[in-house]
Amino acid sequence: MPQGVLLVISGPSGTGKGTVCGRLRERLPHLAYSVSATTRAPRAGERDGVNYFFLTKEEFQSRIERGEFLEWAEVYGNYYGTPRSYVERMLSSGRDVLLEIDTQGAMQVKANYPAGVFVFLLPPTLEELGRRITCRGTEIEEERRRRLSAARNEIAQIRNYDYLVINDTVQEAVAKIEAILVAERARVKHFSDEELKARLEGQPE
Ligand code: ADP
Ligand code: 5GP
Repeated sequence: MPQGVLLVISGPSGTGKGTVCGRLRERLPHLAYSVSATTRAPRAGERDGVNYFFLTKEEFQSRIERGEFLEWAEVYGNYYGTPRSYVERMLSSGRDVLLEIDTQGAMQVKANYPAGVFVFLLPPTLEELGRRITCRGTEIEEERRRRLSAARNEIAQIRNYDYLVINDTVQEAVAKIEAILVAERARVKHFSDEELKARLEGQPE
């Protein structure tokens, strides 16, 4: 069985990663979504084990020490990390896996798993980014400013990604990411020698 595709999506806070990934998950039930762990406080409506695994700093630290994260990073003053075992289990069972993580984490994944597909999501303009963070209304003014000023550093990482998708409308952004997945699954390098051999067995001369 071929391994699934590891799809990594990053982009500045407020770009619409959560919105776009939510729509992708509705449309592609086969896509396994990795729930991250974090030390940040839950927002209204967020549920443990659904949006994030909400951990104390001590618990997060001990999971780092036990090597339980595929990657982890400090983002906007809190820790975030991807549980390793879920991702590895899903990929080896042939499921595609979606990670929505920051640029530091994405580069750790790239170093350890170069076969991953790295997509950067951008808002149409920086003004629109500011508007979206404000509209979401989940951060106090200071935190909002902190996230906006971090956006420039995040955007400087675009060249390390394979694809750039502009989140102008959610529908178009989702359609582009679906097309990327289809193309990636068709890559020759995605098929093992055993699988290619199995496909050719029994063919007429
Ligand atoms: P992120 O996960 O990147 O921080 P969110 O998904 O929380 O961003 O989106 C930030 C805000 O922008 C939300 O209020 C969301 O409804 C809105 N949003 C997301 N995508 C779009 C879009 N294509 N057009 C307009 N608003 C959007
Ligand atoms: P938020 O607090 O808005 O949910 O997320 C803040 C930032 O943390 C976003 O850029 C998001 O992509 C990133 N993030 C979420 N989960 C992870 C993770 O598991 N690892 C890393 N490195 N970043 C993450």
